[in-house]
Amino acid sequence: MIAASLQDGTAGLLALIDKAESVVPFTGAGISTECGIPDFRSPGGIWTKMRPIPFDEFLASQEMRDEAWRRRFAMEHHFGNAKPGRGHRALASLYRNGKVPGVVTQNIDNLHQASGISAEDVVELHGNSTYASCLDCAARYELSWVRQQFAAAGGRAPDCPTCGGHIKTATVSFGQAMPEPAMRRAEELTRACDLFLAVGSSLVVWPAAGFPLVAKKNGARLVIVNREPTEFDQIADLVIHEDIGTVLAPLISH
Ligand code: NAD
Ligand code: ZN
Repeated sequence: MIAASLQDGTAGLLALIDKAESVVPFTGAGISTECGIPDFRSPGGIWTKMRPIPFDEFLASQEMRDEAWRRRFAMEHHFGNAKPGRGHRALASLYRNGKVPGVVTQNIDNLHQASGISAEDVVELHGNSTYASCLDCAARYELSWVRQQFAAAGGRAPDCPTCGGHIKTATVSFGQAMPEPAMRRAEELTRACDLFLAVGSSLVVWPAAGFPLVAKKNGARLVIVNREPTEFDQIADLVIHEDIGTVLAPLISH
């Protein structure tokens, strides 16, 4: 599929949405860049600056846990102030209108919930970085509490006061098991939709990247909106290499 121009792409997208009964958006970091949260793989993205900490290294050393929390607090000026962008608001409008039963996201920024989509209809494949949890007893901890403990201990990541387990942002790191209920729900939504909208994802992180493929094989139309080409462009029914906010803005209803 050759990428459509902004005008043709937007018109084609609106027509496909109009015809569809169930639209499932699948979002990645690209939908949140206009909100001030950098993605991983764009030029200047987070990965050009630092290597992510895999789960086994987080478990293995206090230094890595300290480093993981240092990084998270350093990102707070991005995450803490971010508001939903045009892409989030457009998808929330489709949700309110009953076209979208749920959003499957790789994002960890909580912005779909902030845009008005009910938390149980935001399927987070990689968790959420706006709070933390104990890896052993699953108790939830707010970041403000972790930050206080971290500072009081001179930059040392706290363990769970109840069970002694390690406390980590509620995200899924490389090497960490995928959350089963979210994977199941994502699969159900994907199989039940007739239009699958991949928005702002480089589609290289597995197993998440398998969902567009499942949708397509199951007979749904596949639309990809992403500034850069992806490996799945060739199997998509419509490809738009333009700015997400600009493409989705016409869908925002008030
Ligand atoms: P990615 O960084 O691999 O890809 C993002 C894609 O979005 C890129 O291909 C880029 O070209 C495109 N893009 C960026 N801004 C755009 C814009 N305004 N318009 C159109 N396209 C735009 O992100 P990914 O595929 O989501 O995978 C990375 C992993 O990183 C995810 O699993 C996610 O958990 C995590 N992550 C999340 C956030 C977040 O929650 N906002 C931010 C960074 C990374
Ligand atoms: Zn615990």
